[in-house]
Amino acid sequence: MSETGPVRPTTPRQVRPRTEGWTQKKDADGRPLLQFAAPKKGMPPVHLADLTPEQRVEKAKELGLPGFRAGQLEKHYFQHYTSDPAQMTDLPASGRDELVHAMLPPLLTEVRRLETDRGDTIKFLWKLHDGALVESVLMRYPGRITLCVSSQAGCGMNCPFCATGQAGLTRNMSAAEIVEQVVRANRLIADGGLGDPRRVGHADERVTNIVFMGMGEPLANYNRLMQAVRTMVDKKHGLGMSARGITVSTVGLVPAINKLAAEDIPVTFALSLHAPDDHLRDEMIPINSRWKVDEALDAARAYFDKTGRRVSIEYALIKDMNDHAWRADLLADKLNARGRGWVHVNPIPLNPTPGSVWTASEVPVQNEFVRRLNEAGIPTTLRDTRGKEIDGACGQLVATEEDREVAATVPVD
Ligand code: SF4
Repeated sequence: MSETGPVRPTTPRQVRPRTEGWTQKKDADGRPLLQFAAPKKGMPPVHLADLTPEQRVEKAKELGLPGFRAGQLEKHYFQHYTSDPAQMTDLPASGRDELVHAMLPPLLTEVRRLETDRGDTIKFLWKLHDGALVESVLMRYPGRITLCVSSQAGCGMNCPFCATGQAGLTRNMSAAEIVEQVVRANRLIADGGLGDPRRVGHADERVTNIVFMGMGEPLANYNRLMQAVRTMVDKKHGLGMSARGITVSTVGLVPAINKLAAEDIPVTFALSLHAPDDHLRDEMIPINSRWKVDEALDAARAYFDKTGRRVSIEYALIKDMNDHAWRADLLADKLNARGRGWVHVNPIPLNPTPGSVWTASEVPVQNEFVRRLNEAGIPTTLRDTRGKEIDGACGQLVATEEDREVAATVPVD
């Protein structure tokens, strides 16, 4: 026995999730409130990107014009990234402004732009036509340009760690508001506004990858999300992007995951899991009270079976909350129980936040978590959290009070 007494095995510390500086809204049963239905008010005017190619032709005809004008507008918007009638000299001058305004109404007004990483990362704050604020983050990497887009103004999923969820759901974004984030980013890149392409050794001059990890839960805005995705991948009438470069992420809306699997568009699918056990996940991700860890993982596996696309499991590593070695083992067991080769795990290191329960795991703990998963045969790589210096990392995309003050002075286009 030592002078300080017997050495006892220590049990790992368990920090429980809780909100800090705000109070989570609760439902009648005292559980965190989940908002699925979005208020209808505030939706923007219909835009060409909200319509199918056939509907665009119809709309041109309704405006008294030949249907092929719709194709000309598509070209200006999706290939030249412009909604400016002055640049559309192939359209007859008479009535051009009215046509463009009817088919391409203004949707996003830029309020603020923040740059880091020597200009390779840019966060945009946009004001929608009804004054709602959303954000997107553009990142140039070697070999690709990624845009993190928002799909809802606010979010109804009420996750206690998330700045976006605090204010609840303001409204769904329209398909065109989602697509316009990409078009505006492409415009900026084409104008030479994103970093220095020579530094990263490639000459991509448009967004190549989309991640739906900005504001909102994309699968809670399903129909508009899918219209936006179809427009992104449409080679003839849209942006012509690769479906593989588009990542749709969710906290686990199981029926919508099944629906997504049944679409014929093999986008990359990411499940934000953050805990392998219901006990913890019920508190971290309130949607877990509806669909449990095993149900979400079954749906993720079914997505792989249907599409052949390997699924990503997102896992924010939070000190003493979900970073325990036994949780890495449990996660590996649950994934391996559903077969091999269908999934990889992306642990996401958080920013250290002194005094907060939501703070970064220690590096050796992070490494051990990754090691255990890899050793169990689950490909696991720590994710790059570019953009976190400007509050552009997932779960941090929310307008600040200062943003709101600036936004109030900016008239919508
Ligand atoms: S973490 Fe995602 S799903 Fe949860 S409240 Fe935030 S934006 Fe919504």
